[in-house]
Amino acid sequence: MTLLSAQTSVALPNPRAVVDAFHEHFAEYMTITRDGEALHFEADYGNGTLSAEGGRFAARVSCISENVLLSVKSMVAEHILEFSGEKTLDFRWEGHGAELRELPNLFTGRVVRGYNLTPKMRRLVIAIDKGIERLMTGGFHVRILIIPDQARTPVWPHLSKTGAIVWPEGENELTRRVYTIRSGDIQRGEIDIDFVMHEGNDMPGAHFGATAAPGDIVGIVGPGGELPDVETYVFAGDETALPVMLRMAAEMPAGKALTVYAEIDNEAERQEMSCKAGVTWNWLYRHGKHAGTAGLLEHAMRNHAWAGADGLHVFVGCEKGESRLVKKMLGDEFQIPKTCIHTAGYWVKGANDDH
Ligand SMILES: Cc1cc2nc3c(=O)[nH]c(=O)nc-3n(C[C@H](O)[C@H](O)[C@H](O)COP(=O)(O)OP(=O)(O)OC[C@H]3O[C@@H](n4cnc5c(N)ncnc54)[C@H](O)[C@@H]3O)c2cc1C
Repeated sequence: MTLLSAQTSVALPNPRAVVDAFHEHFAEYMTITRDGEALHFEADYGNGTLSAEGGRFAARVSCISENVLLSVKSMVAEHILEFSGEKTLDFRWEGHGAELRELPNLFTGRVVRGYNLTPKMRRLVIAIDKGIERLMTGGFHVRILIIPDQARTPVWPHLSKTGAIVWPEGENELTRRVYTIRSGDIQRGEIDIDFVMHEGNDMPGAHFGATAAPGDIVGIVGPGGELPDVETYVFAGDETALPVMLRMAAEMPAGKALTVYAEIDNEAERQEMSCKAGVTWNWLYRHGKHAGTAGLLEHAMRNHAWAGADGLHVFVGCEKGESRLVKKMLGDEFQIPKTCIHTAGYWVKGANDDH
């Protein structure tokens, strides 16, 4: 596969401290090797080297697609600022996409209709203004951008010269939340996003899902996140990961083996599942316990009949603390390598999750 590459460097008072901070921060999510003042990361979407060289911090990254490269560049740019403590820094990327100022993965759409799939899962059907084919391929997840006032013309983000995404501020500030494109219809130009009507007070994502009216404008950035091609899959997730687990199951070809542990509140939250692969789908019920506290996924994964890591991919999507526990358990108790596991904190107990 041809990778798209870019590189940058910036003079900093202590570039090594920035390399150290990247190392500490990202070790949890990807395979990192350290060689003195340089660290190399490998992920399923690409690789890169971050290093301290002659008073400069340097980054070289290679990624599988333009969208991913853009996200990695903006992630590196934002973390250089955060880790160095500098308010502004002037640096440029060279290589692929260096001149890009518009976000190539920004889409806009309008709500067509909303309806409940179950008592606590509400679907919004969104008509995409242009580019639906790109939105329906290349990944499951998107950031939805909720605009502050439907009566005003929205202001969308753009890319700075440093590769960072410049988000509108003040009265134009957008609220960002990560959701899954559950399904879509390219002919009609529509996508379906399913919103969990969860507990909580200040929750713009769930509120948008519950109250959006036909015609409401929404921004969408993405997509990202794909499933590797292996033989055996184990998925564990709560209702926030139900859309992606149902979509991954629906798109999985025959001949694969899939086991799913899906935690929901009660029987009324079950949804129809379709899958050509050999699938064992287990519903786990909280029966009134608060989401993120029942421990059902950890228990199910501990009791799963693990049969080695060859050709295995494990996906875990649930409350952040729970997903970390499951990841640790899979490594410590079942010796499943990090490279076979994709765990993600889908939400954070007691906190707004502004990704
Ligand atoms: C890759 C990815 C894909 C996702 N796909 C979907 C999807 O398709 N559908 C979907 O509904 N969600 C999905 N999520 C989860 C969603 O992004 C979070 O639930 C998000 O926090 C919702 O934002 P909010 O504004 O409603 O609440 P926030 O402002 O983030 O949080 C407000 C309060 O609500 C609580 N809270 C948030 N989510 C939950 C929950 N699920 N249960 C109980 N309490 C909660 C928080 O702890 C906090 O106290 C996904 C997350 C990721 C990372």
